[in-house]
Amino acid sequence: MLIAGNWKMYAGPDPSALADRLAGIRGVDVVVCPPFMRLVATVEAGLTTYAQNVHWEEEGAFTGEISAKMLKAHGVAGSLVGHSERRQHFGETDETVARRTKAALAAGLAVIACVGETQEERDAGDTETVIRIQTEAIRDVAHGHAKVAVAYEPVWAIGTGRIATPETAQEAHALIKTIVDVRVLYGGSVKPENAEELLSQPDVDGALVGGASLEIESFASICETATRIRS
Ligand code: PEP
Repeated sequence: MLIAGNWKMYAGPDPSALADRLAGIRGVDVVVCPPFMRLVATVEAGLTTYAQNVHWEEEGAFTGEISAKMLKAHGVAGSLVGHSERRQHFGETDETVARRTKAALAAGLAVIACVGETQEERDAGDTETVIRIQTEAIRDVAHGHAKVAVAYEPVWAIGTGRIATPETAQEAHALIKTIVDVRVLYGGSVKPENAEELLSQPDVDGALVGGASLEIESFASICETATRIRS
């Protein structure tokens, strides 16, 4: 099981306090994805730290971006790639997601690559096609790679309080695993109250948690649920 906390553009909890609270939790891989200015603090607190984005070039005139080499040099272990907020607001495409993933892996970083359909796509009956296209875009670089996880995050469930039913999540995860042989995390309004039913699904290998990762107790509770389910 892998539980990752995406702090988005929030400062997030105190890294040392979080590390203290998580210290006794065994049998689950726990990752935090803070905004850039907190990456070093979370690394120094002993938390496995991923960035929220990574560029494919090593350096250059790419204002606002950061390279895998730079992240690695500061002890960052991986990066999110293709989060729906980046696809929606910052022009992220399947092609750039693949380039970011490839560069991160080449530099030795781990990757959580995000896929998922919007409400409109679901309503139009395009869920499977969208998941397929987004996942196939990273298949060549990601298939069977121990450092890759895919996060299935239905866009309509992110930050909305609406969650996919465990059956809907399971169905999407099973589909993703027919395309890439990697761990598949569920993301979208995961909270302590719903973590157990989602994480109990056979093809749910963890969670990407947004809002609930900003509170130490709720994030720790989700991590503890994961250890109980499959350690
Ligand atoms: C996310 O940021 O990836 C996410 C799933 O957010 P939330 O848990 O707040 O829906």
